[in-house]
Amino acid sequence: MDTGSKIYMDYAATTPVDPRVVAAMQPYFTGSFGNPSSIHVFGQVAEMALEKARQEVAEIIHASPDEIFFTSGGTESDNLALRGVALARRKLTGADTLLISPVEHHAISRTAQQLASEFDFNLEVLPVDQTGRVDPDEVSRRIGPKTALVSVIYANNEIGTVNPIGAIGEVCREQGVPLHTDAVQAAAYLPIDVQAAAIDLLSLGAHKFYGPKGVGVLYVRKGTPILPVQTGGGQEGGLRSGTQNIPYIVGLAEAFKITQAEIHSRAARLIPLRDRLIGEVLETISEAALTGHPAERLPNHASFVFNHADGNALVTLLDVAGFACSSGSACKTGNPEPSEVLTAIGLPREWALGSLRITLGTGTTPEHITAFLKTLPDRVNRSRGMAYRH
Ligand SMILES: *Cc1c(COP(=O)(O)O)cnc(C)c1O
Repeated sequence: MDTGSKIYMDYAATTPVDPRVVAAMQPYFTGSFGNPSSIHVFGQVAEMALEKARQEVAEIIHASPDEIFFTSGGTESDNLALRGVALARRKLTGADTLLISPVEHHAISRTAQQLASEFDFNLEVLPVDQTGRVDPDEVSRRIGPKTALVSVIYANNEIGTVNPIGAIGEVCREQGVPLHTDAVQAAAYLPIDVQAAAIDLLSLGAHKFYGPKGVGVLYVRKGTPILPVQTGGGQEGGLRSGTQNIPYIVGLAEAFKITQAEIHSRAARLIPLRDRLIGEVLETISEAALTGHPAERLPNHASFVFNHADGNALVTLLDVAGFACSSGSACKTGNPEPSEVLTAIGLPREWALGSLRITLGTGTTPEHITAFLKTLPDRVNRSRGMAYRH
C-alpha cells in the first residue's frame, strides 16, 4: 500500500523518526555493536554511548543519571512503575491501595486492574471533571497511609488534556506517597522537570517524540521502593535486566534532546493550526463537541465527538479520502464499545461512539488543515448514517 499521497494526522499514535535521530543511531548497529556489559573495548564504546544517553535524558528532566532506566517503551515503563512500586511498598509499609485517574492509558489502567484482581491490591479511581482533569484537592481527600502509589497521566493521549501534575506532586509529597506520571504524550510538547513538579516516577516512550519504537525510559527518584519486574543479568542498576538496545537508546536520547529544544517553536507553529481546526469544526458541523480541556491541552491535539456518528466508520471514510486520524472507540465487531476515557468525562454513549482524534506534527501544513476541513463535514454526515444503533 502506498502512503505517499496520504496526509498523516495521527502523531499521538506514533511519529516518524527524525532523520537526525536515524543518523545518530546508525553507527551502533554495525561498527560500534558491542555489549555494554563486556569488559573489552567494544563493550566500553557501547557503554560510553549508553551512559552519555542516560546523562542527556537525566539533564533534560532535572534528574541524576542513576535515576534513569531504559526500557522497551512507554508500556513497559508504566508496568514497571506500577507493579514494581506497588509490590515493594506493600512489603515495606503494608500500603495496599493504588490511586489512579480514570483517564489513564491502558498500560496503567489494565496493570492496576490486574494488581487488584490477581494480587489483592485495592484500586481506587479518582474523579475527573468534564475536561478529564484531576483536581489535586481530590487526591488530597483520598490519599492516606494505605496508599502505595498514585498514578496520574501528565497529558492525555485521547483528549489532549494536561493535568496539574505539579500540584498533585505536592499533595503526594506531603503524604510521603510516591507519584508516578505517564508523560509519554507530554514529552513531545511540555518541558519536564521532575524536581519542580515533585514527580517520583515518570514514563517516556521515544516513538511519540520522533524517536524509534520499542524504547522508553522510566525515571525513578532515588530512595523510591521498587521491585524489579524483569530479572536476569542485573543491567540498569538491577531494575531492568536484559542487554540494552544501544542504537535505540542513543536514538531516544537524541530525539528527546531535539524535541525538548524545539518544543516552543513547534508549539508556536501548531497552536494556530490546531485552533483553526477546532474553531471551524465546531462552527461548521452540527452536534459536534470538543473533548478535553479547551486551553490546558497539548498544542498539537484536537479531539471531538459527533452525536450519533460512528467513529470507526468515520476514520475509515477519512482514510479512503486520504487522511489518517484515529477514534477512541474500540473496534469490536458487532458491538462497539465507547472509550473508557470518554465515558469517564461523562459523555453519553451516542456521543462517545462518534469520537475523532486529529493530532498534528512536524509534517503538518496549513494546506493539510484546509483540505481536511473541506472533507470532514461530508464524512461526518455519512458516518452518521452508518452509526450502530440499538
Ligand atoms: C503510546 C502511549 C503509551 C504506550 O507507549 P509505547 O511506547 O507505545 O508502549 C503509554 N501511555 C501513553 C499516554 C501513550 O500515548
